Amino acid sequence: MFNSLSDRLTATFKNLRGRGRLSEADIDATVREIRRALLDADVAVPVVREFTAAVRERALSAEVSGALNPAQQVVKIVNEELVEILGGHTRPLSFAKVAPTVIMLAGLQGAGKTTLAGKLSLALREQGHTPLLVAADLQRPNAVTQLSVVAERAGVPVYAPHPGNQGAETDVVIGDPVGVARDGVAFARDKQHDVVIVDTAGRLGVDQVLMQQAADIRAAISPDEVLFVIDAMIGQDAVATASAFLEGVDFTGVVLSKLDGDARGGAALSVAKVTGRPIMFASTGEKLTDFEVFHPDRMASRILD
Ligand code: GDP
Repeated sequence: MFNSLSDRLTATFKNLRGRGRLSEADIDATVREIRRALLDADVAVPVVREFTAAVRERALSAEVSGALNPAQQVVKIVNEELVEILGGHTRPLSFAKVAPTVIMLAGLQGAGKTTLAGKLSLALREQGHTPLLVAADLQRPNAVTQLSVVAERAGVPVYAPHPGNQGAETDVVIGDPVGVARDGVAFARDKQHDVVIVDTAGRLGVDQVLMQQAADIRAAISPDEVLFVIDAMIGQDAVATASAFLEGVDFTGVVLSKLDGDARGGAALSVAKVTGRPIMFASTGEKLTDFEVFHPDRMASRILD
């Protein structure tokens, strides 16, 4: 995902190697290179601005003494600032004191919500939890069927509005997604599932009806976590999309999907900072096991590798 950004930053740092104390002009030149590299990687402008200002200030006031030479010091500062914009530290799922823990998924159509439902439920099952998936995406043809397929692959049950989940749905709105979500959570409580993951509808673009529906579902089920799933390849649209979901539904954490792609990855580097919500998981492929807890420090190291 970050090959090009990684190469650019490495080249920038290489120019500093073997230097003694860096002048203000050296630091400014370096910061300019970093700024261009980040902008070319589609990182949001305000994030780039804040990032480069912090790097500049810290580089100017860095002590030359110690074990690190000036070039290493700049790398260290950039690394720490990257960790910072990625959210600082790993944020684990917060489980409810009284089961079930309710996790709601939100995001645009195609972002990777349904796939994530499978990945997360598999990971939770492997940790000894007993998740239930709830199909509250009644908007898209086949969404219920798709979730059922994913649930079967993950080995977890699904609560769906269709008897037998035969995929008989059409592209009309079937039933009431808020009611299905509420009933699904009640069903989970009744059947003693300790986690319930509610998949919701997504549209191709941010849309008020969808947003209201997601907000209504949120209000009906009072989730412990609302995970906003975003395709890391959407580039500059990431900020507007994330902000719209933050305002419309509010979410407690972000899941970056398609981090295995070869796009520029600005979403990954912008969303936590812009929304103030932590990136909790990363989705890195189509298989249910292509899924990891997001660690800001590891991601920063990967970028600066
Ligand atoms: P939803 O509309 O948000 O539920 O999105 P889906 O889960 O149906 O995913 C849309 C498409 O993206 C599907 O073809 C998935 O297989 C694919 N997909 C989901 N997550 C990933 C990922 O992390 N990497 C890749 N390469 N593809 C993914």
